[in-house]
Amino acid sequence: MRIKDVITVLEAWAPPSLQEDYDNCGLQVGDPSADVTSALVCLDCTEAVVAEAAAKGCGLIITHHPVIFKGLKSLVARTYVERTVLAALKHGIAIYAIHTNLDNVLNGVNGEIAARLGLLRTRVLAPRSGQLRKLAVFVPLAQAEAVRKALFGAGAGQVGAYDECSFSSEGVGTFKAGEGTDPFVGKVGERHQEPEVRVEVILPPHLEGRVVAAMRSAHPYEEVAFDLIPLANGHPGIGSGLVGEWDQPLEEGIFLSKLKEIFGLRSVRHTALLGQPVRRIALCGGSGSFLLEQAVASGADAFLTGDLKYHQYFDADRRLLLADIGHYGSEQFTPALIARYLEREMPTFAVRLTETVTDPIHYS
Ligand SMILES: [Zn+2]
Repeated sequence: MRIKDVITVLEAWAPPSLQEDYDNCGLQVGDPSADVTSALVCLDCTEAVVAEAAAKGCGLIITHHPVIFKGLKSLVARTYVERTVLAALKHGIAIYAIHTNLDNVLNGVNGEIAARLGLLRTRVLAPRSGQLRKLAVFVPLAQAEAVRKALFGAGAGQVGAYDECSFSSEGVGTFKAGEGTDPFVGKVGERHQEPEVRVEVILPPHLEGRVVAAMRSAHPYEEVAFDLIPLANGHPGIGSGLVGEWDQPLEEGIFLSKLKEIFGLRSVRHTALLGQPVRRIALCGGSGSFLLEQAVASGADAFLTGDLKYHQYFDADRRLLLADIGHYGSEQFTPALIARYLEREMPTFAVRLTETVTDPIHYS
């Protein structure tokens, strides 16, 4: 297996195009064409994690948080980042970061938190717009199903939990084949009328190349007429945060105890109890305070995240129960999520979870 094969599998799940502007996801250290037999998965790639990977013979570290975030102007062991990168280079270990691209897919970081909480009917809290394209292609009647199949096979036509979604309308296409062509129907130099179907599907931008190629190869015409249109719709499966609910509401105190139990916390920082049961929960792993207004708008009874500042507790303004389970606390299950995904998609590739606790915050 080469490192780039592992990356291809990871990026089919969390395409790098979904990362935030400030982020630095992707391969940070190493040669993508190098062979690799096992990976070590972690939340933060520190010197201790690199040492662990070396001891375990793992040629690749898959980390949630990028170790190189800002540019590096030198590699002289001055900071922990430089020392970590130097250690990785010394041991021939590659480092790959899967960060906000994994935050921005519904079955990523936040989906894992929701699953641990047992939330139902989950959806993205702040769907991202500009993440959908509409493809409309004109096909002769007899070939419409073959083209539809090819589009679906390449990943087009997914709407939430539904797939193979399309719309078809019949009409008449005209064309006049020019010199040197070999038209599928009609004669060179004569206008031809052909009963056609307009097949419409939606697709995310990262599948555009694959879907268009599949459409062309299944289509009988030399020149395929199609429209690829950017949509303003929010993508239901792509964006920040998540909202879900339980069938049975929980009393606030019990809710907070449940958080401590699930996330292994000694305490949870939260706003004043509101005397209302908690049924719908908005959440965002890591630092999610920027989603407070969307959490309120979603009708959530509680908003769960990490890294909240003092004044942000005031901002909740008794509109919901705001709870901080810590940045590390909220994302601690992410390595297990990544490992499970790789084990499922690449059963012959060895994936190990780090045993190094990288939470930089200690409690006494
Ligand atoms: Zn984080």
